[in-house]
Amino acid sequence: MKVQVCNKEIQVELKKHSQRRKVALEILSQTEFLLKTPKRFSQKDATNFFIFHKEQIKNFYLKFLSQTPQKVETNFREVSLFGEKIKVEFLETEFRERVIFEENLLKVYGKNENLKELLTNFYIKKAKEIFTLKVSFYSQKMNLQVNKIFIKNQKSRWGSCSVLGNINLNWRLLFAPEKIIDYVIVHELCHLKEMNHSKKFWELVGKEIPNYKESRIWLLQNGKLLNF
Ligand SMILES: [Zn+2]
Repeated sequence: MKVQVCNKEIQVELKKHSQRRKVALEILSQTEFLLKTPKRFSQKDATNFFIFHKEQIKNFYLKFLSQTPQKVETNFREVSLFGEKIKVEFLETEFRERVIFEENLLKVYGKNENLKELLTNFYIKKAKEIFTLKVSFYSQKMNLQVNKIFIKNQKSRWGSCSVLGNINLNWRLLFAPEKIIDYVIVHELCHLKEMNHSKKFWELVGKEIPNYKESRIWLLQNGKLLNF
């Protein structure tokens, strides 16, 4: 739907959530709003929302226009991604919180107290995307059936698998070089065939990752560092 705020035409996207009870308005840009609503919320309700809260929305919008996110110094100047150091820029804003990765720079927009959470959520989302692609690549190559992939938040356990064919992977692996991620994924996939660490198991791992021993040692030595 479209609304007029301060004589500007704004495109409003409605997003219904089954869990949501209250209505929340987010300003995405000068011309885009996002209205988060409960499941039963009609187009008419949305129109009424804009009529009823006209003044508030106008003030909210004017505040948005007058504010540019301010660059703030934090402890997170650098983070690791695939074993490489990446610069982090933190821009404080009370509007749309988001993380953007561009030109080797991670730009975090948000409130100061949410910085770590925003970064963590960004990593978890990326981990899900990347690990899913990798599991699918290796499982096809190794002719294995994987049921589901779960991204876990654990201190020092990198991966595990279940008899149901589910693979669990720690999002913190994203800090490590790609060959380490590949090793952990292949390790867990091999457990779908061999539920132990027998000689036969390591032979299976070695078929896909001939230098897997290096990766094992790397994880033992560096595992603790895979964190913010
Ligand atoms: Zn194992």
